[in-house]
Amino acid sequence: MNYFEYRDGEMVVENKKISDIADSVGTPFYLYSSASLAYQYNQFKEAFGDIDLLICYAVKANTNQAVIKTFADLGAGADVVSEGEMRRALKAGIPASKIVYSGVAKTVQEMTYALEQGIFQFNVESEPELYQLSQVADNLGKTANITFRVNPDVDAKTHAKISTGKSENKFGVPWKNVRALCADAAKLPGIKLVGLDLHIGSQITELDPFEEAFTRVCDLVEVLREDGHDLTRLDLGGGLGIPYEGDDFPPLPREYAEMVKRVTNHLGCKIIIEPGRFLVGNAGVLVSKVVYVKKGEERKFLIIDAAMNDLVRPSMYDAYHGIDPIKESDQERTLYDVVGPVCETGDTFATNRLIEPMESGDLLAIRSVGAYGAVMSGTYNTRKLIPEVLVNNDEFAVVRPRPSYDDIIGLDQLPPWLSK
Ligand SMILES: *Cc1c(COP(=O)(O)O)cnc(C)c1O
Repeated sequence: MNYFEYRDGEMVVENKKISDIADSVGTPFYLYSSASLAYQYNQFKEAFGDIDLLICYAVKANTNQAVIKTFADLGAGADVVSEGEMRRALKAGIPASKIVYSGVAKTVQEMTYALEQGIFQFNVESEPELYQLSQVADNLGKTANITFRVNPDVDAKTHAKISTGKSENKFGVPWKNVRALCADAAKLPGIKLVGLDLHIGSQITELDPFEEAFTRVCDLVEVLREDGHDLTRLDLGGGLGIPYEGDDFPPLPREYAEMVKRVTNHLGCKIIIEPGRFLVGNAGVLVSKVVYVKKGEERKFLIIDAAMNDLVRPSMYDAYHGIDPIKESDQERTLYDVVGPVCETGDTFATNRLIEPMESGDLLAIRSVGAYGAVMSGTYNTRKLIPEVLVNNDEFAVVRPRPSYDDIIGLDQLPPWLSK
């Protein structure tokens, strides 16, 4: 379902003209659709039917309070990777009893905070982390429910920077160590081993790597049960991809859910899933304005007012994002390089892209930026963080305002010897 579509000659989101929002907020800005967020969540949930399931939104994909609250109201839990994210999830109304804590470097302070809040589960990634958590929980007189995040050594067939389930990646407990570590965990104070966890990567567009990994983990659950461990939870991580280009067709939630049920049903475990990108990726666009159209010797450049500091995915992951004018046009498309103002050649959103002819002052939308967009932005070149806007039917609200230059520069402090 695409909630960003042309109506009467211009792009709308739900029942709101994007040009009206741009007039009010100024460009550039991130724009999210509430209906799209809800649609994605409900599609995922309905695909699983009535099995014992907890959908933990991986909040790192988009941590805006308004986005998390939208999912909280739909009943979602959260997957967090830091104390900061846990605080955001709690503040947006997701109870600790629905929060799982992932990440390879949980500190004593973070463990303490999560235990005090009553976290549902830690996904433990290493032996030293296990011993540290046991000590922290025991000192607090609490019991930490844990799963081990295992590394199934499968190739998720995705971009190297977002592949996490190969044995050479830093994530998870090596496969051959899991049984011994479970035996250790059973003897440690403050620890209750409740299941296994895995997360093999992101933007995965085929079912096979998931199925291979899940099958291996299910076999391991049976081995561990024979060893005497009472495993009742299976956390399958996130990673389901979304279409970025028109001809990508990642698996549908229904196909994914059917495979999960087929592979895991016999274990009778509670299933936990941690989707991030799938829930938010296509629910957002970045609205930007053309500053100049520059004719280089060989290429035509659309120089826009958004830059790599606002959306780093193209330069960091070679990511493809659709780019469309806000005003519908039937003119023949022409080849452009779409670039930002930052002083780096990597500040490029698209090269040799066919787009309808555009002029200085025209608005365009960079599509599919709801995930790993605003959260990865920064202020390089002393550019202001750009606003985030949420639409709900014919209403919109700024859900993170544009800061002032004083806000940015004011973060610096002069040392005493320079401030006389
Ligand atoms: C990033 C991450 C996710 C979410 O991944 P998506 O590809 O956005 O679905 C889920 N679980 C863990 C442990 C992660 O690190």
